[in-house]
Amino acid sequence: MLAPMSDELRDQVALGCRILGLEDQGDFVWGHVSVRDPDGRGIWMKASTYGLEEIGREQVLLVSWDGEVLEGYGRRHIEYPIHTELMRARDDVSCVVHTHAPWSVAFASTHQPLRPISHEATYFVPPEVARFTTTGDLITTSELGADVAGAVGDRNAAFMLHHGIVTCGADVVSGVMAAVLLERACRTNIRALAGGGPKSWSSDEEALSKREHCWPPALLRQAWDYLARRLED
Ligand SMILES: [Zn+2]
Repeated sequence: MLAPMSDELRDQVALGCRILGLEDQGDFVWGHVSVRDPDGRGIWMKASTYGLEEIGREQVLLVSWDGEVLEGYGRRHIEYPIHTELMRARDDVSCVVHTHAPWSVAFASTHQPLRPISHEATYFVPPEVARFTTTGDLITTSELGADVAGAVGDRNAAFMLHHGIVTCGADVVSGVMAAVLLERACRTNIRALAGGGPKSWSSDEEALSKREHCWPPALLRQAWDYLARRLED
């Protein structure tokens, strides 16, 4: 029988998936959220074959560090090494998100720097958003997963060129909201590029100040709660 703590984590992962679905980050049944198992057995991760908006507690599996399904029923995603290797590399990370976020994929392909022209980008910039460029193909091995982790470094996000995004955080709220903010920031940048290109944006100093004012954990949580309420409508 699963401990109540596991149920709570599974519910958080499931809600995070549905929020990303609401935010149009789904790509048919691909894209996933995971959280570190507090007992060190691996990660609780969205099951394969379902869309983000379809996920409930029952579609969140305990996956071992080597990709074995230890709890729950269903198939695990082939790209689980993105999650396991980033968490292996980062003790401070408890949640990893990978989606094929469409605005982010389009924006990354422009090779333009993400400009802090609205609040969202200040969660990442400065410095420039990290990029994983080894392959645009699926991340199916621990070696490639470790390469992704290397590209993320000590940051909270990276573009995966010709593929998607990876974001992370100390908890599910910050990991998922990083994906939400990165996609919204890319959408805003593309709109500006389509309108002739941004002519001004926050200085590094202003962006760092805004990161502190706009995106402390309490406000990320308010945005998460708001998105969760929209799912109830
Ligand atoms: Zn992928």
